[in-house]
Amino acid sequence: MKQIVTRFAPSPTGTLHIGGVRTALFNYVYAKQNNGKFLVRIEDTDRERSTKEYEENILNNLSSIGLEPDEKPINQSERNEIYIKAAEKIIESGNAYWCDCSQEELEQMRKEQTEAGKKPMYDGRSRNLGIERSEKTVLRLATPEDGEIIVNDLIRGEIKFNNSELDDLILLRSDGTPTYHLCNVVDDFEQNVTTVIRGEDHISNTPRQIHIQKALGYPDLEYAHLPLVLGTDKKRLSKRNAATSLEDYRKKGYLDSAILNTLARLGWSQGENEVFFLNDLIKDFNIKEVQKAGAIFDITKLDWLNSQHLAKLTLQEFKDSLKPFLEEIGIDINNHNNVDLLIDSLRTSDNNFSGIANQLYPYYKDIKEYDDNAIKKFISDNDILHDLKDILQNIDDWNEESINKALSTYQEQNNLKVPQVNQPVRIALTGKTKSPGLGLTLEIFGKEKALKRIEKML
Ligand code: GLU
Repeated sequence: MKQIVTRFAPSPTGTLHIGGVRTALFNYVYAKQNNGKFLVRIEDTDRERSTKEYEENILNNLSSIGLEPDEKPINQSERNEIYIKAAEKIIESGNAYWCDCSQEELEQMRKEQTEAGKKPMYDGRSRNLGIERSEKTVLRLATPEDGEIIVNDLIRGEIKFNNSELDDLILLRSDGTPTYHLCNVVDDFEQNVTTVIRGEDHISNTPRQIHIQKALGYPDLEYAHLPLVLGTDKKRLSKRNAATSLEDYRKKGYLDSAILNTLARLGWSQGENEVFFLNDLIKDFNIKEVQKAGAIFDITKLDWLNSQHLAKLTLQEFKDSLKPFLEEIGIDINNHNNVDLLIDSLRTSDNNFSGIANQLYPYYKDIKEYDDNAIKKFISDNDILHDLKDILQNIDDWNEESINKALSTYQEQNNLKVPQVNQPVRIALTGKTKSPGLGLTLEIFGKEKALKRIEKML
């Protein structure tokens, strides 16, 4: 059997989109689970919209998230000769012809078709005219007029297309440059691709591309068209309903493994199992189980999976990953007397590293802003805070246990509720009402700093 070869073929007209990462991921996993190869091809034939910066962004992000191609990526913009040769081969086989219809003529034709209630498409009028090549001619593929093309899709099963609905698409433009479909088909052949896994938006291209393959005598390919990625509003995922760039998520502090986990779940699931890593996916993923319906990308799902993946990190790994996010807000992670206890106690304070870094801010630096509503609610007079300051002052053995003991004795003796005692101190220490257990929070701050903050509050 032939070695499975898949490819991810982005057009570098934007940064790496999370929908693109999902396509790349499924291609990668399918190749790896079949002991095959995963390739990347940059489809940069649209010279106006493609840039080198986007290309680098895509390639760097793919590698750094772990989807490293098995061969050096190729660029379509450097391969014109190969495509032109292929076009010549199609001419020789008699499956293509030159057409000199002007824009006006084509527009008129479409207008008449629309008026007659027909689908507007090129009607093949130049096909049998034996037109010679000139600066005005484009090369068109002579698509069979009858019969049908059957695409065997790994996800969707048989999809049938009537040839009569496909017009004779252009292979070479009048300036001699090859068109997108020709390049795409030639490259799949030249790269020995066996399996095309791409978004559902490409389904209508597939029968056209198969006709080009047939004209060139290329072998058949396997196809899998992935469901669209939708936003929570069920519309196609776009900048209007979510952050779409992979970088946005990495910058917020989502782990690569959690991003991949979330993307793998876009259209695929396996029983109750939610949390998995790339290696699990290579073991368990089955492309035939991918659903047909659009798949919703939900940030709350990513948040949850990220917290699951964060929980699997050792403290050291967690600290290493968190460090740059603290640096971003001007904090050196080691600039604290009780770093390990601090980080360990706050590692679940948010779902991503930038959120966690913000939670850590008051433990390293002066409080930026106090929660005014919390102050109004819990600190109506200073009496309790005064008492607590005195009590804390007298604790010699500054640890979670003895602090908690002193606090609860005070609370019971004065017949107070827990929040009446704890929240004023918590607000004084962190500016807000959320922190780890109060004894632990006080221990982390250390006696001196804790008392200073309480004084400041008073
Ligand atoms: N370049 C196309 C895109 O970015 C992908 C084409 C393909 O996978 O065949 O949507």
